[in-house]
Amino acid sequence: MNIINKDLKFMSDLQHGNKPNTIVLHHAASSSCSIEEIHYWHLQKGWSGCGYHFFIRKDGSVYKGREENVVGAHCKNHNTNSIGICAEGDYSKEEMPSIQKEALVEVCEYLMGKYDIKNIYGHNELGVTECPGKYYPIDEIKEKVKENIKLGGAYPEYLIKRDSHKFDWNVVKIQRHLVELGYDVGACGADGYFGEDTEKAVKEFQGDVGIEVDGVVGGITWGSLFG
Ligand SMILES: [Zn+2]
Repeated sequence: MNIINKDLKFMSDLQHGNKPNTIVLHHAASSSCSIEEIHYWHLQKGWSGCGYHFFIRKDGSVYKGREENVVGAHCKNHNTNSIGICAEGDYSKEEMPSIQKEALVEVCEYLMGKYDIKNIYGHNELGVTECPGKYYPIDEIKEKVKENIKLGGAYPEYLIKRDSHKFDWNVVKIQRHLVELGYDVGACGADGYFGEDTEKAVKEFQGDVGIEVDGVVGGITWGSLFG
């Protein structure tokens, strides 16, 4: 997942210490807009800048808003413990393009893995507002995410191996399960990055169950883990 950073300039009164345990989904209430425009609109309101942590355009591109550890300005009473994600569009009167929906699912999964977040809400579930709009596919997004992050499931049909630079939810699944089984996946825990310690744990697991020890999770190892 590529997160585009437009280097927005925030006012100096940003508060740090956001501890995300919830994702809050919003719409921009504008059919076409950019992260720079949202940033400008929020500055005009007297805020420190873009109130959201992420902004997703209709073409599926993902933009960085505030730092994730900065308190948000998007959902009253929840700004110190949530990540706010805004979708370009006015979903009180239009349908969401599927590529934008897919990007939303991907960002939610990424954040849920990173912070061990369990809950996704539409803004209107936490406050009195129409946001994110009656056509926003909130249930579909929640269902899709839930399905994708469920432990186990079918082998994803590619070799899952050492790559410390790419977050992968399937790596989270493998790491969580290895930890449950008593293996050590390193100090970062189940972070979704397949590093040296995860490779070592996979090799130990493979040795213990008597399959080929290569540190790569293919169909046989996946089956041994989750079968
Ligand atoms: Zn909202």
